[in-house]
Amino acid sequence: MASQFDFDTIIIGAGHNGLTAAAYLGQAGHSVKVVEARSVVGGAAVTEEFHPGFRNSVCAYTVSLLNPKVIADLDLARHGLKIIERPMSNFLPLDDDGLRVWPDAKRWKAEVARFSQADADSLDTYNATLERLADVLRQLILETPPNAGGSLAQLWKLWRMSKPVLALDRQTQQDLVDIFTMSAADFLARYFRHDAVLALFAFDGIVGTMASPHAPGTAYVLLHHCFGEVNGKHGVWGHAIGGMGAISQALAAAARAAGADIEVDAPVARVLTHNNRATGVELADGRILTARKIAANTNPKILFEHLLDPQELPPEFATRIRNWRCKSGTMRLNVALKELPDFIAAPGTDPQDHHTAGIILAPDMAYMETAYIDARRHGFSAKPVVEMLIPSTIDSTLAPKGQHVASLFCQHFDFDLPDGKTWDDIKPLAIEAIFDTVSRFAPNFRASVLAVQALTPLDLERDFGLVGGDIFHGSLDLNQIFSLRPALGHADYRMPVKGLYLCGSGAHPGGGVTGVPGHNAAREMIRDFRRHR
Ligand SMILES: Cc1cc2nc3c(=O)[nH]c(=O)nc-3n(C[C@H](O)[C@H](O)[C@H](O)COP(=O)(O)OP(=O)(O)OC[C@H]3O[C@@H](n4cnc5c(N)ncnc54)[C@H](O)[C@@H]3O)c2cc1C
Repeated sequence: MASQFDFDTIIIGAGHNGLTAAAYLGQAGHSVKVVEARSVVGGAAVTEEFHPGFRNSVCAYTVSLLNPKVIADLDLARHGLKIIERPMSNFLPLDDDGLRVWPDAKRWKAEVARFSQADADSLDTYNATLERLADVLRQLILETPPNAGGSLAQLWKLWRMSKPVLALDRQTQQDLVDIFTMSAADFLARYFRHDAVLALFAFDGIVGTMASPHAPGTAYVLLHHCFGEVNGKHGVWGHAIGGMGAISQALAAAARAAGADIEVDAPVARVLTHNNRATGVELADGRILTARKIAANTNPKILFEHLLDPQELPPEFATRIRNWRCKSGTMRLNVALKELPDFIAAPGTDPQDHHTAGIILAPDMAYMETAYIDARRHGFSAKPVVEMLIPSTIDSTLAPKGQHVASLFCQHFDFDLPDGKTWDDIKPLAIEAIFDTVSRFAPNFRASVLAVQALTPLDLERDFGLVGGDIFHGSLDLNQIFSLRPALGHADYRMPVKGLYLCGSGAHPGGGVTGVPGHNAAREMIRDFRRHR
């Protein structure tokens, strides 16, 4: 059967998930062709030179969620991947002080006690609760969610997957329901009182979500950012030497070692079908490539609204995709710096531990809420929530000696702007608001900027194929996760056209540099290859 096709599998998109799927399929002995629209592999997990001599992870900028099974199975260390922990995890500067999160639990607790003894006393319970919940998630993410439909096989799967949940004690079961349904603010208020401590934790609940920390569902987003690990240490965020592109490069090397052929500058214009079965792709340059199975690493909206004729889809599925919510509300700056930020709360431009941290500029919950409300009214806030990382403080490969690169990840920048404004028009104003925000905490910042690359939500869509600027290929809303991702009946990576699979973040368990949708989709495809051989 394979002989009538050019390949066993074609993967549309060499994002890190497409590469992961390619590596697993190749290892299973299938011929794989990956076609990528951009001129580099990696999608949102890339390192690029944005200013002469200054390289940075231009979109995703910090690692934790990359699954340890993927790292081990694909031997990514052998393919050059090295991930290190940050000396300080987070730093939340205030006007006259700063809250520092240390990797060492005792030191971190002592730091919280400086702000609130009661909050320090709650820290162990909070961490233990979150770890128990993250552990459930860790077990579920590598599973294929059960599809709706009630077949015996699906019922069996549902029972099997519910086992880890049923094994939990009553309190943890309650916490699990709560974290899936509550707001980050309400969930955190059970443990903490001090505004800075609340803001520090709530940041994870609004990342990439265009929501107030008081919106139901944001507690789950918080948990989604906690199930990862760095070198076996749970919940920690770290840095890939060479930037996030190093992850994609290692995955591409693993895929090539397994026999996959990866072609860049090769956008797919259309998925070809015959009798409602995917049979190949037509590239923008007119070439036709055929395969027994096609997997799309793209946002589901690209696949089903641009690459396929909607007539191929069941009407209810087409409606689901039309309503697929893509709205992260993020803007991303990459900045070349001639010196490090001199924080009012931690003076000095010589490298210090806080310069290595994820620096969260959002001093309290009211600040976050106001930033969201402003963004709803005006598109973005004059005082936005910003996380800044300066990876050159721990990775000398990124900037000339003595100079630095910073990643600024900015929340609540609405893709849809009011009053007929366009992102291209207001981009300079948005950059100013972000610079003002950083300068409020580190007054030397503005003068230290040598160059800036700014990616508005529209740039993320145009340059990276992130529809609506959505960093997760679809919000992690309760109606868009697990068996509902991307649609009831299709959470098993098999799409309504035969031989067509979704292997990117629009599939379970969603976005982040995890490799998991690629891993899980490849497993299902390999199963289908065996069944239909
Ligand atoms: C600004 C930003 C910051 C982020 N920060 C972090 C972070 O710090 N840590 C983290 O873990 N996650 C982060 N994320 C999220 C994470 O990067 C993404 O969820 C993840 O990288 C998506 O991976 P993917 O492989 O599923 O899809 P993508 O990376 O989107 O890859 C899809 C690929 O398909 C290609 N493509 C699209 N259309 C076509 C076509 N027609 N033909 C051929 N190819 C096509 C695209 O060019 C792209 O390469 C961030 C994302 C962004 C945008």
